[in-house]
Amino acid sequence: MAAPAVLLTGGAGYIGSHTAVALADAGYCPVLLDNFCNADRRVVGRLHELLGSDGFAWHDGDAREARTLCALLRRYRIAAVIHFAALKAVGESVAQPLRYFENNGNCLVALLQALAAEGGGSPAPLVYSSSATVYGDPDRVPIPESAPLRPTNPYAWTKVLGEQLVLAQRAAQTAWRAVILRYFNPVGAHPSGRIGEDPQGIPNNLMPFVQQVAVGRRAHLTVFGSDWPTPDGTGVRDYLHVMDLAEGHVRAVDYLRAGGVSDIVNLGTGRGHSVLQLLGAFGSVCGRELAYRIGPRRAGDIAVCYADPSRARSVLGWEARRDLRQMCEDAWRWQRSNPNGYSDA
Ligand code: NAD
Ligand code: UDP
Repeated sequence: MAAPAVLLTGGAGYIGSHTAVALADAGYCPVLLDNFCNADRRVVGRLHELLGSDGFAWHDGDAREARTLCALLRRYRIAAVIHFAALKAVGESVAQPLRYFENNGNCLVALLQALAAEGGGSPAPLVYSSSATVYGDPDRVPIPESAPLRPTNPYAWTKVLGEQLVLAQRAAQTAWRAVILRYFNPVGAHPSGRIGEDPQGIPNNLMPFVQQVAVGRRAHLTVFGSDWPTPDGTGVRDYLHVMDLAEGHVRAVDYLRAGGVSDIVNLGTGRGHSVLQLLGAFGSVCGRELAYRIGPRRAGDIAVCYADPSRARSVLGWEARRDLRQMCEDAWRWQRSNPNGYSDA
């Protein structure tokens, strides 16, 4: 019997490419759709190496086009969809809000239109990529899914509105089901070192910046504030191995295919690590102290953010298995063997 096909919009991106590998490992056939606006085409060659040419399919196309999505849903008899396609840089979203609302909004609208048009009585279920950014500055940690939503930038608003759209469509189309996943801070890489995170330009996020310091592409890390109300004064986040996150998506697809009802679920470890803890862990993995300077706080930052992951356990049977050291080891293997990311492919 042919492997059930799962459509991954934005499937050539960081989380999508790792989820493609986890899905293939679990017996699914991932079908990737990406317009490569934030991904390197060479990731496809790397997936060929890992999965073989029969292990997945890919299409260069725009997820804002319902026609393209309809054709893929039909051609591959798609059993479930994971919707990753979005622009995700917070600072860029502040400078270019129209671009963010247009892209992130229209991708989701087109997908929901295509699912409704092609699904007949039972449209394929959806896993929607949301983010802990929807919580803004939380009243308390760990953060449960019931915490108030307080988006503080246009990117976060696109995620809140995306969630609202998914919930509204679920209410309108009662036979359809969706799981909204709110990710905390994905880091690391596939243990093969063949795929990983490859941001364009100067990295916005901590881990890829630290990786580039370790490999000599940047002289030092600037730590954004050492006066936060945390044990060492630096910001605390819930870093989560990208392969744990990828496996969380597999669990969500399994759950929906088994008839599970719609839900909203945090994916995080439930543990927080500070900037200096992450830097120290990475230094011990790569065998040298990594240079840093203390700088001012970054506008819009918060002190502490980590998940209450208990719902992921009870609903999806998922919990993160990999620790901070493994996140650093796998990130380092990827960066060391690809100092310039996919440009080295
Ligand atoms: P990414 O940028 O690596 O992947 C997103 C992919 O979507 C890219 O390959 C991009 O080319 C593609 N894309 C964007 N617009 C498209 C369009 N119109 N048509 C087709 N493809 C399009 O980002 P990622 O880190 O893999 O994130 C995946 C999803 O998870 C996003 O929705 C993001 O908002 C969400 N998320 C990411 C993080 C994180 O820290 N990485 C945290 C929480 C949520
Ligand atoms: N951070 C930092 N220097 C950097 C990038 C990030 O000190 O160059 C800090 C940031 O202030 C936060 C943590 O690292 O406390 C994680 O930041 P990231 O942007 O990766 O995730 P987010 O803040 O969006 O959760």
